[in-house]
Amino acid sequence: MRRRFTDLRVPAGGDETRAASILVIDGRIAEVAAPASAAAESDEEIVDLGGLLVLPGVIDGHVHFDDPGFTHRETFETGTRAAAAGGVTCIVDMPCTSLPPVTSAENLQTKLAVIQAKAHVDFMLWGGLSANAMADPEWRRNLAEIVEAGVASIKVYMLSGMETFRDLSRPQLAKALEEIARHGVPVGVHAEDRKMVHELTSRIRAEGRNEPLDYAESRPAAAEISAVTTMSELCRETGARVHIVHLATGAALDIVTAARDEGLPMSAETCPHFLEFTEDDLRRQGALLKTAPVVKGEADRDRLWEGLASGELEYVATDHAAGQWPEEKHTGSIWTDYGGVPGVELSLPYLYSEGVRRGRITLERLTELTASAPARFFGIESRKGRLEPGFDADLVALADDETWMVRAENLHNLNPYTPLDGYDLTGRVRQAFVRGQPIYRLEDDGSEWFGDPGLGQHVRRESKVGR
Ligand SMILES: [Zn+2]
Repeated sequence: MRRRFTDLRVPAGGDETRAASILVIDGRIAEVAAPASAAAESDEEIVDLGGLLVLPGVIDGHVHFDDPGFTHRETFETGTRAAAAGGVTCIVDMPCTSLPPVTSAENLQTKLAVIQAKAHVDFMLWGGLSANAMADPEWRRNLAEIVEAGVASIKVYMLSGMETFRDLSRPQLAKALEEIARHGVPVGVHAEDRKMVHELTSRIRAEGRNEPLDYAESRPAAAEISAVTTMSELCRETGARVHIVHLATGAALDIVTAARDEGLPMSAETCPHFLEFTEDDLRRQGALLKTAPVVKGEADRDRLWEGLASGELEYVATDHAAGQWPEEKHTGSIWTDYGGVPGVELSLPYLYSEGVRRGRITLERLTELTASAPARFFGIESRKGRLEPGFDADLVALADDETWMVRAENLHNLNPYTPLDGYDLTGRVRQAFVRGQPIYRLEDDGSEWFGDPGLGQHVRRESKVGR
């Protein structure tokens, strides 16, 4: 099967682009050529992209698609449909917000059996270690088996609100990291100080305070700084490859950078909501913008953008987590309102618009942050994340000059709400392809076409990280 993509542009270093054509054979990129050399052969199918900017498909390393178990919030079908519309061609789903959690090979197979036929895009699965899982005397064997089954990375919480996936104490973390390091996979950490947050929460709630900023006060920057400090110590002690998920605080990034300067195998991701919003927005938008960690201040936001440009932050992920809308976001108390926002569909347009177009990051850096860096982190760097011969033809075609307004009701995930509702973005996803096959198209008249669910395939981690 030969397919030649023509009349397109590709990144050419910095903010430059160049005209190109891309030949895809059996789902893989065979060549990225100058347009003039694109003499079509008779058995080639031509896909004319009308001058669109083609980037490597986005790999969103942190989504909660809730399936099976919490399908009133998201399903794998709706989540991956939203991904396709956002130019995300591979997602990495968290182990903790589906039931049973992915803490054993048996649970992993149960989840795969449910989600496989629903996938619009390729997907990897996070495995996890919770206090629940570590209570099983066989937890070491279970961990070995999910690594063997190809999980992308292992998720742990220093502070969890989930009874089905409880957080780990420092001694448990040390034990967990020792074991994970032996398997050559990274560990992704939700890093907030449990004791500090629990104490603040009890005190503030006892005072009867119930505003969005009261919730923010219960999860301060200090909680993240303390937890990331603990993780850098544990990284030093165990040699585990430590990755801080959804980093929100500038000073916490400084700790990660100091650890890296010391040679420790430590990294961090951030999310679009931390790049855009502050506590002022939380006060205005209320529970709609409730997440954990909470959005911070302007200086934090600026520091995170700086970290994206400098390479201090490894990649951007969305932490896509949709509650049932509007019920779960309007429970009558900020403390019980669902924490999480959908993000998978808007990540690329947001980063292109507010990052590249505003000159905060280059186009080249954007493709690293959204594709090649997560591919490397999840051990699929020889297969995904680049527009180069031999790589999967995972492509997103962007109308890079088109300005459009985000409308929550037009999102494709199950519960369409977003703190970006009403925002104007420049750069719009027009087409997307997984392994050369079309999965999404937006026509000029606004109508949309999706490929069939089930086209997406399970992708296993291929390479190990050193100790
Ligand atoms: Zn998450």
